[in-house]
Amino acid sequence: HAKKRETNISPYTQAMRHTLERRQWMTERLHMAILEQRLELYFQPQVDLDTKALTGAEALCRWHDPEWGWVSPGEFIPLAEERGLIRLLGDWVLEEAARQLSAWQAAGTPLPGRLSINISAQQFADPRLTTHIAALTSSVSPSAIAIELTESDFMRDPDQAVIITQAMRQAGYALFIDDFGTGYSSLSYLRRFAADALKIDISFVREMLDNHHDRAIVQTIIAMANTLDMKTLAEGVESAAQAALLAEMGCNQAQGYFFGKPLPADRFAQTWLSR
Ligand code: C2E
Ligand code: CA
Ligand code: CA
Ligand code: CA
Repeated sequence: HAKKRETNISPYTQAMRHTLERRQWMTERLHMAILEQRLELYFQPQVDLDTKALTGAEALCRWHDPEWGWVSPGEFIPLAEERGLIRLLGDWVLEEAARQLSAWQAAGTPLPGRLSINISAQQFADPRLTTHIAALTSSVSPSAIAIELTESDFMRDPDQAVIITQAMRQAGYALFIDDFGTGYSSLSYLRRFAADALKIDISFVREMLDNHHDRAIVQTIIAMANTLDMKTLAEGVESAAQAALLAEMGCNQAQGYFFGKPLPADRFAQTWLSR
């Protein structure tokens, strides 16, 4: 009487089981996609808010599963972190980023500025991270790369973070603190991290035109960055009004749909890189 037993399982348990099965299945598919090099990097422009010139780009990982279609990084990155796949994925991202930078150079259309690469907490926990990055990206100069790490990942082990960030800066990589404003770092730690730029979190930019609290937070972040000789880069800029207000507030750079969406390498080059 298997049927009867099945109906005794609560809808909650069934939903749980379904979620767990999907996640297990997804973990296996993601693992295969990484090994078979079926992930892709997209590139989103970063621009100077005064001149509107390209100052760099951010590499963003994309996964198209033949059966499910596009899976959001908001779903597969945390899954990779949880299931021990993030180093494998992160290594591929570093290698692919360097390969693409070299290819643009060879084609006579180099990316100006730096390519931002996202690093997750588990990669950052490796004390030899700087050497590891150098080995995986040896075809390009460290001056072509910025490493992005979230403010909350920095704050997980601030003393370790200080050591690694100093090594990274000494090697010539730039360091951006991602999702800034959401991670409760203190001014004294910020000073010791010696980052090149604070990326103002999208949540403050989204509401800054209507919400004076968010506007004040953005202004405070810019003032903090100025005090510490760091640049500011606002993320999630979607309108001309947001861009104008940010420029007026003294924010240096911006990234967002208003300037350009993340694009595959060839379309990014056609739109943003020229001889
Ligand atoms: P993030 O590092 O904060 O990346 C910015 C996210 O904002 C990206 O989402 C980007 O597509 C999106 N975005 C850019 N402009 C706008 C805009 O104007 N409006 C809105 N609403 N969104 C905008 P995406 O590509 O879905 O990535 C989500 C997160 O996944 C990233 O957040 C990052 O934490 C993670 N991620 C993506 N690629 C990688 C990777 O290669 N390695 C690691 N460790 N994490 C990655
Ligand atoms: Ca980022
Ligand atoms: Ca961010
Ligand atoms: Ca984020």
